[in-house]
Amino acid sequence: MKIALLGECMLELNGIALGAMQQSYGGDTFNTAVYLARCSDKTLDVCYATALGDDALSAALLQHWKREGLQLDLVRTIADKLPGLYQIAVDAQGERTFSFWRDQSAARAYFDTPITPLEARASEWDAFYFSGISLAILPPAGRDRLFAFAQNLRQRGATVVFDNNFRAKLWSSIDDARASFERAFAVANIALITADDHQLLFGLQNLDAAVQAVQNLPIQEVVIKRGAKPTLVRSGDQPWQSIAVQSVERVVDTTAAGDSFAAAYLSQRLKGQMPHVCAQFGNQLAARVIQHRGAIIPMAAMADLCNTP
Ligand code: ADP
Repeated sequence: MKIALLGECMLELNGIALGAMQQSYGGDTFNTAVYLARCSDKTLDVCYATALGDDALSAALLQHWKREGLQLDLVRTIADKLPGLYQIAVDAQGERTFSFWRDQSAARAYFDTPITPLEARASEWDAFYFSGISLAILPPAGRDRLFAFAQNLRQRGATVVFDNNFRAKLWSSIDDARASFERAFAVANIALITADDHQLLFGLQNLDAAVQAVQNLPIQEVVIKRGAKPTLVRSGDQPWQSIAVQSVERVVDTTAAGDSFAAAYLSQRLKGQMPHVCAQFGNQLAARVIQHRGAIIPMAAMADLCNTP
């Protein structure tokens, strides 16, 4: 079985301005791809679709990604582009602020070619995963290509998964964002929804109103994540189920909570497990991830949860 995930992985700088900085990398769909490769047995091929430059950092990223078990033949190299970059600054109180250099990143130009490797091999994918951030970074023509590709997959019975990560700053207007998310809801047959993001995007009064709105979306399968509150899940005409999250005494860093949830959920769902079992596993991995610093926790810290060594 093969899944393709589309998005952007950026370089990360973490440390003191003009002082020592640790280099790393991350991005929502990328984090999901890594956790999915870790949680899946050898029967699932996890292919990451993005674009990088032909610079030394891009080459180093590819080497690292390969070691994480990702298949990289969907990655495009665009000679005059570079990967996006973000810096995490931590103040004396431990408060983190992010600065981004991603407006011109290679990933935004993924569809700036007559046919991408993702589209050329459209008949191969059993599942396709993208997020609100995948949509936000693409120009309108790229978004149209993404939706046409996803629609094509749906028509031949493949699974299309949408995660509603919403970052207002990445959108030129709220109307544009809303219209794009509506198109994603129309094409997906599994939606992984963070209630907070839905509330923000649609300007809803409170979280309950957001949950209500999500519950009315006409999507085959919907998972609603609500931080420490129980996760809600419904598939087909089954009733909604509520799945308690794991109790976590000390939350260290919530980066990639939703991304790892998505990976764990899909690793089981694509094998045909029942949605509530998948949501339990999602909650379990996410709870583990938020007890460690950074988006990608060491494999050793989660090996007991995964089948693969
Ligand atoms: P996102 O990371 O997409 O913003 P959430 O904040 O809703 O999404 O968190 C995603 C998942 O992470 C939750 O569904 C839950 O499984 C887990 N999680 C988040 N916060 C906590 C917490 N305080 N305790 C236990 N699990 C949590």
